[in-house]
Amino acid sequence: MLSSIFVPKCISCGGDCGYDEILCANCVAGLARLNLACEGYCADADFCYADYRYEGALRTALRRIKFDWCIRGVSQLARLCILANVNGHYDMIVPIPFHIIRRFARFVQPVSVIVREVAARLSVKVEMPLVRIRNTSYQAKLRRTARFENVKGAFELYADVDVHEKDILLVDDIMTTGATLAEAARVLKSGGASRVDVYSLAAGMVR
Ligand SMILES: [Zn+2]
Repeated sequence: MLSSIFVPKCISCGGDCGYDEILCANCVAGLARLNLACEGYCADADFCYADYRYEGALRTALRRIKFDWCIRGVSQLARLCILANVNGHYDMIVPIPFHIIRRFARFVQPVSVIVREVAARLSVKVEMPLVRIRNTSYQAKLRRTARFENVKGAFELYADVDVHEKDILLVDDIMTTGATLAEAARVLKSGGASRVDVYSLAAGMVR
């Protein structure tokens, strides 16, 4: 009886989905693959990877998780990671950090789920050399030029993690302008990192 009342619904189409899912099998099958693997998408990063276009069902799901605290099914994001083109050898996997205030404001962060999956798949340790020193405004609410201004000076290096001459894969859930990843990459490079590539689950330009 209870199970028939609480059948979880897909956040995009409203169809039935599994208890640990946010998107149904149909919506997952329909996600737009991007397979981004290129230089120059994100300034200060050496190479950029992204699996999906930031649109449709995936955009809906990520926005519901991030802005509406819809935490059911967040683990499904890990299963969506393909990493088809990522074949570099890295010394550490680094997530984009959150400011401490935002960490309390959000129960589950997509980037935490994604970074754990990426690290496991590549058999590389997660390290946290970056500290967010300013609680920046949500990038999604800003126009393109404002996004670069918003993240300037947002990160500092944590002295206990040595990035000197390290090859790093920087991970985020979404890459739009690339402003946040570019600023984080710049700070890692300023600390002597020899290579900083970036991976995001979804990527897409802001219209
Ligand atoms: Zn669906």
